[in-house]
Amino acid sequence: MAVSKKDLQSKILDAYPASVMKNRKKHIIIKDSSEIQEIQANTRTIPGIITNRGCAYAGCKGVVIGPIVDMVHIVHGPIGCSYYAWQTRRNKGVAREGGKSFLEYCFSTDMQESDIVFGGEKKLAKAIDEAVEIFNPRAISISATCPVGLIGDDISAVAKSAQEKYGIPVLSFNCEGYKGVSQSAGHHIANNKLMLEVVGKNDIETKPFSINILGEYNIGGDEWEIARVLHKIGYNIMTTMTGNSTYDEIATAHQADLNLVQCHRSINYIADMIEIKYGAPWMKVNFIGIEAMSKTLRDIAEYFDDDNLKKRTEQVIAEEVAELEDEIAGYKAMCDGKTAILFVGGSRAHHYQGLLSEIGISTVAAGYEFAHRDDYEGRDIIPDIKLDADTRNIEEISVEQDAEKFHLRIPAERIEELKSTVPMSVYKGMITDMPDGSMLIDDLNHFETEVLIKALKPSFFGSGIKDKYAVQKMGVYAKQLHSYDYGGPYAGYRGAVNFARDVVAGMFTPAWQYVLPPWKTQPGLVGKYVEEGEA
Ligand code: SF4
Repeated sequence: MAVSKKDLQSKILDAYPASVMKNRKKHIIIKDSSEIQEIQANTRTIPGIITNRGCAYAGCKGVVIGPIVDMVHIVHGPIGCSYYAWQTRRNKGVAREGGKSFLEYCFSTDMQESDIVFGGEKKLAKAIDEAVEIFNPRAISISATCPVGLIGDDISAVAKSAQEKYGIPVLSFNCEGYKGVSQSAGHHIANNKLMLEVVGKNDIETKPFSINILGEYNIGGDEWEIARVLHKIGYNIMTTMTGNSTYDEIATAHQADLNLVQCHRSINYIADMIEIKYGAPWMKVNFIGIEAMSKTLRDIAEYFDDDNLKKRTEQVIAEEVAELEDEIAGYKAMCDGKTAILFVGGSRAHHYQGLLSEIGISTVAAGYEFAHRDDYEGRDIIPDIKLDADTRNIEEISVEQDAEKFHLRIPAERIEELKSTVPMSVYKGMITDMPDGSMLIDDLNHFETEVLIKALKPSFFGSGIKDKYAVQKMGVYAKQLHSYDYGGPYAGYRGAVNFARDVVAGMFTPAWQYVLPPWKTQPGLVGKYVEEGEA
């Protein structure tokens, strides 16, 4: 019997004790466009529920700061935080000519009991001395882990004196793991510091059609594929934040004419602040999927409104699409009618829906680990979001127009005009793009994953490493949409084909036929009833 989404919702909720049920109920909705729907998100995780969430340190150092290639990123804390994050996120990067990359290292102060008792500031200062002596980096970051805030180590003071001693930027991030409720707090902390201490510090000669790509971390080479296409059209990429970036490139971000926001959740703070302080607007883009990629390229060209650029954009789109359409059509023929559940951090559960539908797979349920209501419902609701105690302890900074460096890139009226066709300073959220009847579920946990799989029987479950094998043991293909199962790139045109190829290989692998042993699917003995006297 088919399970209705309403039944499913109660099937999940009825299993919970009353207080848990009351909480989780607000995190699950069935899309119904005839009413205004509100989802609860970015609230505290229920203890013991087996969440997929991580911590603020993971969001700050692991996501936003870690990919900057020429900085030494020192993790101030006991060894676990550093060790478990050592090269497990596939943000690729290379040293620039004559420069350095430290991406393959993990740096830790390896705090011991005596550092907890007597404080770890001296050890941290010594770690910076060693890092400078051995690696001579362009800049250094210090990320605080849980105990650092509890014992009161003043990492900002240590950073300040190291900066004076060595004459290189030393950035300190108070991203203790208990801050906020998830990785999201760490994104915010990282954005604040990058904005205050890095962006705007390096002025170089600019070129026409200068852009920044924000919230793109070059997982499996995504940024390289996006940049390949943007360069082919004629854009000048000042910096990407922060996949394959360098300290000096990020410091030029204020000079670009347009910011392209891929992951809204992790970088929207900087996008907004650059617009206020330096006058360059931002646009929501999506480089995942063929149609989304083409639309994004056309939107960017529309913003710059240059005939040659528009012509070149169309040429590049035609060339790129011609290269892949036959192969994609083949994959679509194989996957047509299949369904997917997506549960990914704070943006990919939305971005991948278009690409999946291009190969015939429709998304029936989707959710985020740590997104906020605006990532689900769109930025219009930001003024209605109530700040709770967990959010209030993340510093909110405000910036003002820079007297020297602020200039409007295009007239304000033109931006207003563009808004009718191009997502300028706007993000409509995931709910808008999902059909009625589909399920949205925030901070999915292990129990809910099992219920969803059994009831909706998807062919594809897109999420992370923690649930991949639990899901595959249930006989459903689970694809990691964080690490790409060590493949990629999946962004851009060539990335779309890579993705489709990997999905087809995973979904149609012959091993799925052997999940059940033959004696459970076929009779072991075959006999027939014979009347006495019959042959
Ligand atoms: S929660 Fe605390 S101890 Fe755990 S990884 Fe994050 S910073 Fe480290």
